[in-house]
Amino acid sequence: MALREEIAAAGARLVAVSKTYPQERIEEVYALGQRDFGENRVQELAEKAEQLPQDINWHFIGHLQSNKVKYIAPFVHLIHAVDSWKLLREIDKRARTNERTIDVLLQFKIAEEDTKHGYSAEELFTVLEREDWQALANVRIVGVMGMATYTDDHVQVRREFQQLRQYFERLQRTHFAHEASFREISMGMSGDYPLALAEGSTMVRIGSKIFGERK
Ligand SMILES: *Cc1c(COP(=O)(O)O)cnc(C)c1O
Repeated sequence: MALREEIAAAGARLVAVSKTYPQERIEEVYALGQRDFGENRVQELAEKAEQLPQDINWHFIGHLQSNKVKYIAPFVHLIHAVDSWKLLREIDKRARTNERTIDVLLQFKIAEEDTKHGYSAEELFTVLEREDWQALANVRIVGVMGMATYTDDHVQVRREFQQLRQYFERLQRTHFAHEASFREISMGMSGDYPLALAEGSTMVRIGSKIFGERK
């Protein structure tokens, strides 16, 4: 799989985004050695996780509602898009029930469109000041995630990825200086992953380039 090698050469990891694709397609990609897969719907993820090999690392990459955390808490590998204190607290609670620690990323809004979820830098730093997030013993914040604007304007996309990396570096200095596990920048999709890799992505989330166009 040349794509995976390209990504590994840049020092990043590939999350194969399998949302909407049937299990057989996932099994094909699994047979090539891919172990990290991403989904954005709770029910679809829960069903696939039950049917597919146990050594898959399942990433939840979409907007997650607090009341659905319990369905994926027993097995999810990484939750990419935490964008509220309420959600972070709920993940901690459900992780504790399952006697495990769940890794998460904080989602930043870097795109121009206001439909995208995520924190502004202001909001996030306010939450970290105000709330006792360090008391959440069963959730581990391992980095940040963001989605660039959907546009052909490479200058803009690059600037947005740079912005995300700067948020990451700032957090690393201010709140996670002693946390070696705080090291992930999840950015880059089929259309923009080369730019994301160039700007320091550690994890790209790629669907259609691997599986073909979704219907
Ligand atoms: C669907 C999705 C992707 C993958 O998109 P492609 O363009 O198919 O590579 C990446 N990240 C998120 C959050 C997604 O929802």
